Amino acid sequence: MARVYNFSAGPAVLPQAVLEQAKEEMLDWQGAGMSVMEMSHRGKAFMSIAEKAMADLRELMAIPDDYEVLFLQGGASSQFAMVPANLLRGKKTADYVNTGAWSKKAIAEAKRYCDVNVAASDEANNFTGVPAFDTWQLNKDAAYLHYTPNETIGGVAFPFIPDTGDIPLVIDMSSSILSSPIDVSKFGLIYAGAQKNIGPAGLTVVIVRKDLIGKVIDGTPSMFDYEIHAKNDSMYNTPPTYSWYLAGLVFDWLKKNGGLTAMAEINNRKAKKLYDAIDGSDFYTNPVVPECRSVMNVPFTLADPELDKTFLTEAEKIGLCTLKGHRSVGGMRASIYNAMPEEGIDALVSFMADFEKRNA
Ligand SMILES: *Cc1c(COP(=O)(O)O)cnc(C)c1O
Repeated sequence: MARVYNFSAGPAVLPQAVLEQAKEEMLDWQGAGMSVMEMSHRGKAFMSIAEKAMADLRELMAIPDDYEVLFLQGGASSQFAMVPANLLRGKKTADYVNTGAWSKKAIAEAKRYCDVNVAASDEANNFTGVPAFDTWQLNKDAAYLHYTPNETIGGVAFPFIPDTGDIPLVIDMSSSILSSPIDVSKFGLIYAGAQKNIGPAGLTVVIVRKDLIGKVIDGTPSMFDYEIHAKNDSMYNTPPTYSWYLAGLVFDWLKKNGGLTAMAEINNRKAKKLYDAIDGSDFYTNPVVPECRSVMNVPFTLADPELDKTFLTEAEKIGLCTLKGHRSVGGMRASIYNAMPEEGIDALVSFMADFEKRNA
């Protein structure tokens, strides 16, 4: 069996070493005589898996003690509602920055809970960058400011962290969490669906400053209340145990491979190779302003869109898979998360050069 290079935006490639360990432990996890999927989430075996994963994530991201780490379900999409339900804290309005498809979804959901002030939007530029901070229209009464540091579909990344004083920053890190070190203390809340850079779908990570929770809007379901999950160590109900276990294996893999500093270095090198290939040709184009280009998701178009299909078919034939761009953007998109080996980028870059030579 040959594994392909999978450039999917999510669910996405996982480290091969992690999959091999999961395979090794599938039928009998470390002498338990059963797979992790079959264990009680309250039993000793799973508790040890759960606690280690939590501790490793805290260590990898250097999460301060005054933050809760919650392992939830419902995807980042549930966070679009949980954030306002929990963090409005009696206020009537929140600031949002609109930099693309995922920001828009977050904004639409927040509007069900409060007045949304769109402090800045790049829509007029077709979402090819991030509006300069000095142009933002911030509201001093905002309960928080929400933005999407990495727009997975447009391939747009924030080159700065905004300074909003006492107004907490809330970020949707679904496609960039664990890709480089960040200073968690600069944020009120960080959330991420697991299926891009953490592990399998089904797990959603929330990192939230403790003083921000406990003031949920009346009528909010228990499952949408951060405080209830915090008080129950993310086991208020049955958690997604296998996803939790696999995320733990990924955290372990990251620690063994130099942590987030090493990841950032590799990720920057991988992304540079691909952007250099795009910029060095008249055949491929990436529309994003250079300082806002994502290191994780690299969209690009061909000079002649008629060739898109041929490009995808030929790429797939040599094991370069899932390169089709999002339907809203067209063209191609290479998602190059932590688990995408550098050899995958090399293979893609060399295919692109060859394809150009034959078709330009
Ligand atoms: C994939 C993605 C989402 C949606 O995640 P779900 O887990 O499917 O709800 C939200 N935001 C960003 C930035 C994403 O990349």
